[in-house]
Amino acid sequence: MSRLPAGVLREATIDVGAITANVRHLRRLTGSEVIAVVKADGYGHGAVRSAVAALEGGATRLGVADIGEALALRRGGVMAPVVAWLHAPGANFGEAAGVGIELGISSFDQLLQASAAASVDRPVGVHLKLETGLGRNGIAPEDAGVVFAEAARLERIGKLRVVGLFSHLSNASADDDRAALRIFQDALGVAAAAGLAPPLRHIAASHAAIALPESRLGCVRLGVSIYGLSPFDDRDSGDLGLRPAMTLRAPVAAVRRVPAGHGVSYGYDYRTERETTLALVPLGYADGVPRQASGAGPVSIGGARFRVAGRIAMDQLVVDVGDHPVAVGDEAVLFGDATLGLPSADEWAAAASTINYEIVTRIGPRVPRRQVSS
Ligand SMILES: *Cc1c(COP(=O)(O)O)cnc(C)c1O
Repeated sequence: MSRLPAGVLREATIDVGAITANVRHLRRLTGSEVIAVVKADGYGHGAVRSAVAALEGGATRLGVADIGEALALRRGGVMAPVVAWLHAPGANFGEAAGVGIELGISSFDQLLQASAAASVDRPVGVHLKLETGLGRNGIAPEDAGVVFAEAARLERIGKLRVVGLFSHLSNASADDDRAALRIFQDALGVAAAAGLAPPLRHIAASHAAIALPESRLGCVRLGVSIYGLSPFDDRDSGDLGLRPAMTLRAPVAAVRRVPAGHGVSYGYDYRTERETTLALVPLGYADGVPRQASGAGPVSIGGARFRVAGRIAMDQLVVDVGDHPVAVGDEAVLFGDATLGLPSADEWAAAASTINYEIVTRIGPRVPRRQVSS
């Protein structure tokens, strides 16, 4: 039976080789440049290691939500192009511009703030973001002419370099995404008329990049899929040729033989049906294991599959393992690569009424990440 090293209470192993392989696979599949999205600490996998692994797989640029995340990549030694697209009101772009971070620009005001951050010899790289239906940030189509004209002027005088035009899709349906794509294409025409010729145009995240080939436009922004998770409800990682990079595990910390009718965890929501063995796993909602999945989340111990018994607590959960010969120190796996027979983040998402994105992203800072590569 697999055992963790002595002294390890919990860990998430991060297979950076899987991230590299996923990016390589997705580049080939989409035939497009890949902007690897490493926001939210690389969806919980570690931003710097995920960035390095994605670049190794052929990604040419990194995407993050905010400037703080972009600066953390630079501090971690990542010097590849990075674009950040969500800014505080009145944000000061000076520090970001100083280390060559590109800015997603969603308004006329942000455009002016970006150009104000330019230094004499260094224009600020920007990606102009169009609103095409999602109802989030972005330049409204009716404002595009004015904003693009000013962007073109600022580019001519050396303040800005317009690296890209982009938008983001709803994935509500293929028809909805095609409608957004048409709005985007029209805006590309407006940009050309204003004198802009950005080298990159990007609208597809993982879902559209895989499912809607006409959305690829030669450049795609991939997040969840590079970590080996599926953006679809009806296709899993294996179906897509992806390898989940994160495995969440802990050693069984205690076992207890109990009689029938024994209550388990707060509120006694679960009572044993017969004499059985309870195994204690030291992972709880403080570690990001969703309490919502109490009584339902899958756990693999010694190759056998069980469910969480009763409520998930802050630091621990209990598994009813019946008469299986489970011992203290045996490895319990909450999720990993389903093709290896392990439960998946998708199953935890279903048990908690959420999506796999949230499962990996919320794994907390108390869980040490151990980098491996296969
Ligand atoms: C998070 C994000 C992505 C990545 O989305 P995935 O579905 O994880 O591939 C791409 N673009 C933007 C603007 C995002 O916010």
